[in-house]
Amino acid sequence: MITTTTAKLTFAEIGADEGLKKAIAMDRPTLIGQVSESGLKGRGGAGFPTGVKWNLCAAARSTSKFVVCNADEGEPGTFKDRVILTDYPDLVFEGMTISAHAIGAKKGLMYLRGEYTYLREQLEAVLTRRRKNNLLGEKICGKKDFNFDIEIRMGCGAYVCGEETALIESLEGHRGEPRNRPPFPVDTGFNGCPTVVNNVETLAWVSCIMAKGADWFKQHGTEKSTGLKLFSVSGDCDRPGVYELPLGITVADLMKEVGGENAKAVQIGGASGRCVPANEFDRQIAYEDISTGGSVIVFGPGRDMLDVARNFLEFMVEESCGQCTPCRYGNPKLLEGVEMLQDGRCSAAYLRELVALGDSIQLSSKCGLGQSSANAFLSIVEHFKDEIMGRAIA
Ligand code: SF4
Repeated sequence: MITTTTAKLTFAEIGADEGLKKAIAMDRPTLIGQVSESGLKGRGGAGFPTGVKWNLCAAARSTSKFVVCNADEGEPGTFKDRVILTDYPDLVFEGMTISAHAIGAKKGLMYLRGEYTYLREQLEAVLTRRRKNNLLGEKICGKKDFNFDIEIRMGCGAYVCGEETALIESLEGHRGEPRNRPPFPVDTGFNGCPTVVNNVETLAWVSCIMAKGADWFKQHGTEKSTGLKLFSVSGDCDRPGVYELPLGITVADLMKEVGGENAKAVQIGGASGRCVPANEFDRQIAYEDISTGGSVIVFGPGRDMLDVARNFLEFMVEESCGQCTPCRYGNPKLLEGVEMLQDGRCSAAYLRELVALGDSIQLSSKCGLGQSSANAFLSIVEHFKDEIMGRAIA
């Protein structure tokens, strides 16, 4: 059973639209400067600096720009955006409105995960209330020429649509496939216009940063990974749930917090992340060490790591959009190899070829899905060599 620890979240302390009111009083360079100064990086996993993204989009020449909220949380083991959308939706819409002021957008789109359809009605009610309170619509908060509104559009359950260009394709009504980059969305995004795409959590932190200041945010975390972060913790631990902790925390300290001290390994970053063995629990969860969008899956001493690898590979095979060959053909080959190992039909030499194939998939795939699809398999083979090699035939 997953419990949440939302009572401890900073989001509960933020005054209603305090950040938006402060942001509206600022000119664009000052506003973007504050976000840059905070050091905030994308909380969806990619970790791109939010201020840089906004600056690029603000500088793009176009009469039409868009703010998109990526609410397509689909990484296995992640459920913290669901908590934010349920308990703090105003902070997310507020963050989108602040972003619109920063880049000069008149329209915002929230791309909501298909599995979260049940949240749509309450989110629409929040939007209606915000329109009534002049927090959306014409002359927001009485500011001349600041017109902005938000529309919710539904995803259909494709993991790859969490990738921002596939998400934009889907928003436009096309098949959700990643685009070639460049051009980047900040230049050529939704309907060919400059577009900022930010994750749910990133936008909620924007509202907090505007309310409490960049210096407050920077007090937390490390020099390269400033601020607080939400983690979705599940698996073999005593206290699964959503936790707010500073970036830079070690895996060991996180395991103490959640009651997972006996873990054999922790998968940080979901299916696209890496498996960290117990002898590396002194490593930091931060952009400069182990980066994550927030999924933390704990594996206890009794877990078969080959089963874990198979589970993640099955997911990747299912979710590959099939557009490029390394991902489309490579991942099924890795999965087949793991199944051969489990059946005692895989030689040590073939296992080494599978590792080389995993490296090739990482190097040659078109988008982040393929580039990270072999991460779990490769890190499990690397860190649990004895357990895995013991299953190979001579
Ligand atoms: Fe599609 Fe995979 Fe290629 Fe990404 S890497 S474009 S998901 S086939």
